[in-house]
Amino acid sequence: MTAMPPSKMLKELKLTDICVGYQDTPVVQDANFRLVEGQIGCLLGPSGCGKSTLLRAIAGFEPLMDGEITLDNDVLSSKSHVVSPEKRSIGMVFQDIALFPHLTIYDNIAFGLKDWSKSDVKARVEYLLGLVGLAGFGARYPSSLSGGQQQRVALARAIAPRPKLLLMDEPFSGLDAKLREELVPDIRAILLHEKVSAILVTHDQAEAFAMADQVAIMEAGKILQVGTPYQIYHEPISRFVAMFIGQGDFLPAVVCGPDCVHSDLGNIRGELHHGFETGAKVDLLVRPDDVLHDDDSEFKGLIVSKWFRGSYFLYRVKLPSGKVIYCFASSHHNHSIGQEIGLSVDLDHLVMFPTISE
Ligand code: ADP
Repeated sequence: MTAMPPSKMLKELKLTDICVGYQDTPVVQDANFRLVEGQIGCLLGPSGCGKSTLLRAIAGFEPLMDGEITLDNDVLSSKSHVVSPEKRSIGMVFQDIALFPHLTIYDNIAFGLKDWSKSDVKARVEYLLGLVGLAGFGARYPSSLSGGQQQRVALARAIAPRPKLLLMDEPFSGLDAKLREELVPDIRAILLHEKVSAILVTHDQAEAFAMADQVAIMEAGKILQVGTPYQIYHEPISRFVAMFIGQGDFLPAVVCGPDCVHSDLGNIRGELHHGFETGAKVDLLVRPDDVLHDDDSEFKGLIVSKWFRGSYFLYRVKLPSGKVIYCFASSHHNHSIGQEIGLSVDLDHLVMFPTISE
C-alpha cells in the first residue's frame, strides 16, 4: 500500500484591501476578493489592468504595499510579512507552457514530487496522465505533443503535488479558438473532479464564463465587481462592466413608473434597480437577445448590418431616432440590409444608468 500525502483542500482565500505596485507606484489598488472550497475564480479585464500583478501577489512573487492575503486564516502576505512562493501550497500554469523540454512527460509531471516515494510518484503521475487524457504518453517528450496536449501536461504538473490553490495566467491564449473551446470545459471538469480551487486570469469573457464560478471584473487596477457570470452579465453595476461583458447598447429612456421606462421602443417593463425617480432620464442596457424581431410590433427599425450565426441572425438596426441597436432573429428570418423590421423588447431586469447620451 502506498501512502500519498493527503489532499489539502482550500477552505478560503481572502484578499483584503490589497495594493500592489512596482517601484512605489501602485498598480492594483484596494482589491478585495474571496474564494472558497472548490470554487474557480477569474480575474477578467482588459490588457494592462493589473490582473497578472494581482495573481503574482497571490503567488508570492510581488510584495504588498498594503492590505493582506490569507489562505485558510494563515497570513501569506501583508505589508510586513511575505511567505515565500514555494511555501504557499499554490501551483501555477502560465501562457507559455514552459514544460521542461529535456524531460519526458512523466518526469515533467513528477517534477514537484521530490519528497514522495517512488511508488507514490508512479501512482500519482499515471493517475494524472489518465485524468488529462494522455495515458500512455509518459515516455514522450514535450516537443512531440500538440499545444493543447502540452497545456494538459502543464496542468497535471501543477496539480500533481496537490496544491490548495492553482493560479492560471492566460493559460489558453496561445491556443487556437477551436482547441480553446474544447479544452476550457475539460480543464474545469478536471479541477472540479480533483477539488482544486483555482484562479484564472484572462481578458476573454467567453473563457471566463465557461470556467469560473466567481468573476472579478478589473479596470485600471481596481476590482469593479465580483459575481457569478450570470450576475455580471445581467446585473452589471457600471457602464464599463456592462460594455466589457458581451454585446449591448444603451437605449435612451425616461422612467415612467415603478417598473417601467419609456423609450423609442415604447414602454418597457421589468424589475427596476437603482431607485430612479419617475421622470429621470436614463440609459437602459439592451443586450442583443433582449431585442427581438417581431412582425406584429408597431416599433420599427432599419437593418444596417447583419451576421448569420447558424442558429440565429444578429442584426444592427437603426431606430427612427437614429439610435442603432442589436436585434436577435431566428435563422429563418433572413432580411436584407436596408429593410425595415418590427422590433419588440423582452427584459426581466431593467439595468440602467443616469443618461449621458442626449
Ligand atoms: P494585465 O495582466 O491585466 O495585462 P499587468 O498586471 O501585467 O496587467 O500590468 C499592469 C500594469 O503594471 C501595466 O501598466 C504594466 O505596464 C505594469 N507592470 C507590469 N509588470 C511590471 C514590472 N515588472 N515593472 C513595472 N511595471 C509593471
